[in-house]
Amino acid sequence: MSTSVALTKVYKRYGDVEVIHGIDLQIDPGEFVVFVGPSGCGKSTLLRMIAGLEPISGGDLLIDNQRMNEMPAAKRGIAMVFQSYALYPHMSVYQNLAFGLETAKVPKPEIHQRVQRAAEILRIEPLLKRRPKQLSGGQRQRVAIGRAIVREPRIFLFDEPLSNLDAELRVQMRVEIAKLHNDLGNTMIYVTHDQVEAMTMADKIVVLQGGIVEQVGAPLELYNKPVNRFVAGFIGSPKMNFLDGKVAGGKVQLGSSAIDLQRPAGAEGSPVTFGVRPEHITLREGSGVKLADVRIDLVEHLGGSTMLYATTTDGQPLTIAMEGQQQIALGTNVIAHVDPARTHVFGADGKAT
Ligand code: ADP
Ligand code: MG
Repeated sequence: MSTSVALTKVYKRYGDVEVIHGIDLQIDPGEFVVFVGPSGCGKSTLLRMIAGLEPISGGDLLIDNQRMNEMPAAKRGIAMVFQSYALYPHMSVYQNLAFGLETAKVPKPEIHQRVQRAAEILRIEPLLKRRPKQLSGGQRQRVAIGRAIVREPRIFLFDEPLSNLDAELRVQMRVEIAKLHNDLGNTMIYVTHDQVEAMTMADKIVVLQGGIVEQVGAPLELYNKPVNRFVAGFIGSPKMNFLDGKVAGGKVQLGSSAIDLQRPAGAEGSPVTFGVRPEHITLREGSGVKLADVRIDLVEHLGGSTMLYATTTDGQPLTIAMEGQQQIALGTNVIAHVDPARTHVFGADGKAT
């Protein structure tokens, strides 16, 4: 009963300026899909075209295999939740939830039933009589989500709904929205610039940059096998380290270290970018192969882990994440090791080799 969405060669132009450059995407029924990418990459534009709030300049939008390009927004069976809650300040929570249904001439008893059910799902029943100004930020955002639920849409769209909340509340609401998806089972598309939200919430992540799709995949697929340097640097926190190197004798030459990847590294003599995540570097002798001699410049104690900021002998910065509480003096010289299987190599074009 859930709904599929398909985009084929979808373009968006504002006058002469093209901002979405032909996107193909398949969203399966009941999937939680996250569009993630830096500000201005086209996430909202794409979402608004799916919602029907923005005309599609080229290509096709199919919802349940039916072409929707010209279908008015109200008839697409979609409800959208925005970053700004835009609740009516003079209305109670109940009235805020009921308003859209009243306008649509839904019978009163049914409105009551839908509002009660949404309030139950979101656990805001005790708040129904309050005005928005008597609610916390998280409660307001829940009411905004409630307004989407009462419409019983086929698809939920979220555009950075948690950006106005403080860090702690964001984590809490992230879990609530994930639960909501589990409970309702609807297809949901969620836009964020925050890769942690994308990693924790998505069945499928769509990484966008400059109006194109860089990669589509499950969170761990993107983490383990980024197809290019952009995705490698965007997904994962702290960020992947990138070191300049070149291919020599079938190995990756980084300063005085030659790393045998035990897989093809690229064309002999070509410049490459070597990528390794901070959590995949170890200082333990005898584990993996030598990456570089490094000097420790800064140590961050996070309690559960220790972050080391180091510099290689040829002057390249390297972040190392270690479990637990490590006592390392600044200025110490150590040897960083890596497991070749957990490293990445990108050619001059940025593509993973
Ligand atoms: P995101 O949501 O990823 O931050 P947007 O989808 O809002 O990005 O914007 C994508 C690009 O389209 C940006 O370069 C933005 O400047 C441009 N854009 C958005 N809306 C308009 C508009 N109404 N007219 C012209 N350009 C626009
Ligand atoms: Mg946006």
